[in-house]
Amino acid sequence: MTDVEAKARAYLGEGRVRVVSSGGGIADVLVRGTAVYAVQLSGGRWTCTCPARVERCAHIVAATLICGPGDFALVERPSDEQRMVKASDLRAGDVCHIGRSPALTLIYDPVLVSDYLRVYYRHNGTEDSAYVKPTDDVRIVTKADAR
Ligand SMILES: [Zn+2]
Repeated sequence: MTDVEAKARAYLGEGRVRVVSSGGGIADVLVRGTAVYAVQLSGGRWTCTCPARVERCAHIVAATLICGPGDFALVERPSDEQRMVKASDLRAGDVCHIGRSPALTLIYDPVLVSDYLRVYYRHNGTEDSAYVKPTDDVRIVTKADAR
């Protein structure tokens, strides 16, 4: 368990986490740390008003322990624009979010590299690649073969 996770679990145990609302990919949570911070889930992304400028502060981790990670929350009510597929279903031309990434356009079909899929994508004119597990859920924006 990381320090951040231990701190998050302590917040839960001490009753410092209050879920104001949660569901349908949106959550509103208040966490009392040094001060009271507002933790929110929207568009698959968690944000926190605390000064820690990190991807996942203890307040966000505490909120996800109750509400589930953003991607899971989105699975509850997938819209046509944001449905989930397994990474193994990705093809060249698909537009998708990998983890918390912005919308990425796949350049090639993903390539299996030992147990991982290497996904080549283009974003803002730059080409790059990322590794995902074939069984990972990926949020699809546009499916190439559905056009
Ligand atoms: Zn925070």
